[in-house]
Amino acid sequence: MSRLIGVLALQGDFAEHLHVLRRIGVEGREVRRPADLEGVAGLIIPGGESTTIGRLLERFELVEPIRALAQAGRPIWGTCAGLIVLAREVVAETRARHQPLLGLLDVVIRRNAFGSQRESFECDLLVEPLGLPLLRAVFIRAPVVEVVGPTVEVLARLPDGTPVAVRQGPLIGTAFHPELTDDLRFHRWFCSLATPAASLQSTA
Ligand code: GLN
Repeated sequence: MSRLIGVLALQGDFAEHLHVLRRIGVEGREVRRPADLEGVAGLIIPGGESTTIGRLLERFELVEPIRALAQAGRPIWGTCAGLIVLAREVVAETRARHQPLLGLLDVVIRRNAFGSQRESFECDLLVEPLGLPLLRAVFIRAPVVEVVGPTVEVLARLPDGTPVAVRQGPLIGTAFHPELTDDLRFHRWFCSLATPAASLQSTA
């Protein structure tokens, strides 16, 4: 079954996501302008720098078209900076002066939540939809989910209970980077949520 997954390609590690999609036999498309969303069955927002990605979303007039995609029920997955951009709110002291958010996922995010000692680390996590074996999770200047809305499901937690993967219907967010390991299960699972899309009639 052919399934086209868009990968937001304004900044960050979009090439790694596209590489994993190729490895699992799913067609990926770089998304830089609204027309690139035409016909995509789902969208991945990569890791990178969330302030930059948010500002570029505004500049390239992608905010409303991505919200329309969500409204149409298409799965959207944000990794790390992508999770931040998807969120409803960022903890004030970690939010940049102008940090545009899509505001789709009902969570409050704390950016750069791990001190300089643990800016980057890896650990093995139980991720709800994947089960065993545990998933190797790579955290790079990662955020955490500080407040989880009532309709948001936590898919993975750190050993201290901190939520690091969430789902709200077709919206998925991970504070870590499955695209940086050889474990392809998270991408496979995300793509299984995305059914081939009829082209969006309108982005209004
Ligand atoms: N620290 C980055 C931010 O707040 C996210 C880091 C990442 O995506 N690996 O935007």
